[in-house]
Amino acid sequence: MASFQWSCPFCERHQIVLDESYHHEYNKMHFGKSKYGDVGASVFAIRCVNSDCNEVFLEVTFSTFAIRSSQWVPLTQIAKWNFETHGVV
Ligand SMILES: [Zn+2]
Repeated sequence: MASFQWSCPFCERHQIVLDESYHHEYNKMHFGKSKYGDVGASVFAIRCVNSDCNEVFLEVTFSTFAIRSSQWVPLTQIAKWNFETHGVV
């Protein structure tokens, strides 16, 4: 993903998110087929570049996975959680 616009949910500062300010990865869970079929999780995180905030927006998505071009990729979202809605314990 190239740079994109984003507003931090913690400080509400509008900013351009560059490659070095976000993280995205996904992994298929290799434990056989669940009731949903093949599944996995994606992690998407952005660090706010406002030095007064410097918070981490973290989102985890649980989805079905399928093979596309010989790679396991997320297909259909089953559930999604994020740090903003659940906060710090
Ligand atoms: Zn912020």
